[in-house]
Amino acid sequence: MSALLELDAIEAGYGKSRVLHGVTLSVAAGETVALLGRNGAGKTTTMRCIMGLLPPTAGRIAFDGRDLRGMPSHAVARLGLSLVPEHRGVFAALTVEENLRLAVRRGSAWTFDSAMTMFPALAARRRTPGGKLSGGEQQMLAIARALMPGPRLLLLDEPTEGLAPVIVERLVVLLKELKAHGLPMLLVEQSLEVCRAVADRHVMIDEGHIVWAGDTAALGAATDVVRRHLTLE
Ligand code: ATP
Repeated sequence: MSALLELDAIEAGYGKSRVLHGVTLSVAAGETVALLGRNGAGKTTTMRCIMGLLPPTAGRIAFDGRDLRGMPSHAVARLGLSLVPEHRGVFAALTVEENLRLAVRRGSAWTFDSAMTMFPALAARRRTPGGKLSGGEQQMLAIARALMPGPRLLLLDEPTEGLAPVIVERLVVLLKELKAHGLPMLLVEQSLEVCRAVADRHVMIDEGHIVWAGDTAALGAATDVVRRHLTLE
């Protein structure tokens, strides 16, 4: 069976600086994959390549068998990929409800009301501007917004960054719930704990190279790899 998302030997960078050196990874239907690595390893750059925000200079990206190369990001989104960006990107001046209603797409199984059921904390804040929410609430709103178009693959860029442990726990519960609904996810993370709680497979990136990949049991045993490529000095 071929994977839902496939990256094959992706190279990319900014101007003359090359950041990704042959990134190969895949996400199968129903699977959650974590992309782990230190700051600056190339995780966000990988996400930007997938979403059509940065054109790779070499390699192949396919979603459901379709070549994504050269596709603008709105076309990538229309195919069913949705990104929760690193800094959440909620509209600060718009209310929770306005943020969500803007993201609704015809034909999606998600409606404003179903989002309110899934995210009760947001329901209580529906008339609050995005900019007045706490960090955790903003992250929930960013995820809810990414879900509204009814994605077939959800990309999350460091969703737990800067959040208090109790909020991270709540987020983990939510991600597990989405996973139980069968939504495939590619999750960029620096927290091993979050990766182990949510993902089926883990791919480690260091200086733009994929240095390790394995399932959760293998990650638990790979203490040397973690020390070398992940633990911050
Ligand atoms: P972080 O956790 O810090 O977001 P990351 O693994 O997501 O790390 P990237 O954001 O992909 O890393 O960055 C990889 C490298 O590319 C870094 O060296 C970074 O400085 C560089 N870089 C990222 N964005 C740009 C840009 N717009 N222009 C130039 N260089 C960039």
